[in-house]
Amino acid sequence: MKKIVVIGAGHGGMQAAKVLAQGGFDVTVFEKSDIDHLSRDRWDTIETAVFDELDIPVPEGTFKDGCCSFVAPCSDKELVLDLPEEKRDWTADRRVLAAQLANAAIDAGAKFLFGKTVEKLIFDNTGVRGIVADGEEIYADLVIDASGVFSPFRASLPGRFGIEKQPDDDDVFYTWDAYMTSDPEEEYPEYYGFRMHLKYKGEKCVAWCVEESEDKCAAFIGKAGGMSKEEFDSLFAQLKKDYPFMGDEILRGGEFQNIPIRYPLSRMVADGYVAVGDSAFMTIPLIGCGVANSLRAGQILGEKIVEAGDVSLDTLWKYQVEYYQKIGAPCCLIDCIKRFLLNADNDELKYLFESDIITNKELSGILNGRFTFVSASKLINKIKSAHKIRGLFGGLFKAALNGVNAMRIAVSIPKEYNPLKVRQWQTKLENAMK
Ligand SMILES: Cc1cc2nc3c(=O)[nH]c(=O)nc-3n(C[C@H](O)[C@H](O)[C@H](O)COP(=O)(O)OP(=O)(O)OC[C@H]3O[C@@H](n4cnc5c(N)ncnc54)[C@H](O)[C@@H]3O)c2cc1C
Repeated sequence: MKKIVVIGAGHGGMQAAKVLAQGGFDVTVFEKSDIDHLSRDRWDTIETAVFDELDIPVPEGTFKDGCCSFVAPCSDKELVLDLPEEKRDWTADRRVLAAQLANAAIDAGAKFLFGKTVEKLIFDNTGVRGIVADGEEIYADLVIDASGVFSPFRASLPGRFGIEKQPDDDDVFYTWDAYMTSDPEEEYPEYYGFRMHLKYKGEKCVAWCVEESEDKCAAFIGKAGGMSKEEFDSLFAQLKKDYPFMGDEILRGGEFQNIPIRYPLSRMVADGYVAVGDSAFMTIPLIGCGVANSLRAGQILGEKIVEAGDVSLDTLWKYQVEYYQKIGAPCCLIDCIKRFLLNADNDELKYLFESDIITNKELSGILNGRFTFVSASKLINKIKSAHKIRGLFGGLFKAALNGVNAMRIAVSIPKEYNPLKVRQWQTKLENAMK
């Protein structure tokens, strides 16, 4: 029986563990935390469709999101995404979901070793052959890396594997979020839902504060490229000014964490190694939602291996192909738009929001990676006409063109594993994303 080790009880790792154990593989998940402390002690938004799609029960206590809007930098203009309830995402307790995923994998036959920290990978001349955990060498036919955005395991892979070691600075949101008390003396704004400020304070930053209940609100600050203590303090003070109902006391959270905000790894597999979830940068660039994509990736990975009955590089490559074709390619376009938004001139962005060139529905669709709202060609035509009218948006036009080009390259990923063709495709994609 093939032996598979999963590093980290990340979402993709746990979903893959379940499918692989059901398929008769010997799977062990090594997780440094205990089962009650997996994931984040928060409620987060998760795409509704993924639960039905993967037959995952909606965790107890989950509710539908309120309406959501995006606020332009230096402007009060909001683009509101007010979807009918059936189309809104779920908001779920991350710990409840994570424990549920772990239990489902355990029921399927996967072994979980909680409180076990993996220290390093074991290599031979051709690939990865196992792990070292708490000083013990454990050999395996495949190591699944679900250990998160700054995976030290991915970073330790030899250059010849062709797998990127670390994300660039601007490819990671350095975040702080917490549940705060709210001040009963201060009134809540009349409209209320989830209101995301883009380029908050003109920085490469996203922030919000949401009323959660009468005595609690959720605050978030995320800045691309790093956030010093002084920068955080100044952004936090501004958030408190903008949302006077935000109290002073932290009820839960308040840690600094990281979210990848970029296109997926251009190469996520090697002999004996595969990355899934944040380790392979599987969030939606711009908004950083990654749970649904990680779960889908874990499912695809598990199914490809079970179908083939082996963990060869040919089989692992099929996982990357399906991920890119179904999920990864649009993330290349979103990444290009993200770069434009992070670096754009604030006046240009303000005009974009205030001119109605892009409608509420369309911008929200692009930000969320839901291309049912706006097709890539329609987007380019809109930007072209805006360009003609105002002589503006050179940057946005270029970003959208680059994004569509990158998306086309991404879907043309070689279907079979051929080292030369894979290398050529990877170089083409990386160049398009530069
Ligand atoms: C502030 C914030 C807000 C977010 N909001 C949302 C949201 O609203 N919606 C959404 O979909 N996503 C959101 N995300 C992103 C989401 O959390 C991730 O994309 C998602 O968890 C996928 O990551 P993962 O499962 O691959 O890895 P992680 O969730 O990072 O899990 C990695 C696991 O590996 C374990 N581990 C790490 N190193 C070792 C080691 N050496 N040995 C053993 N175990 C190890 C860790 O303990 C952890 O359990 C948010 C992230 C942050 C930080």
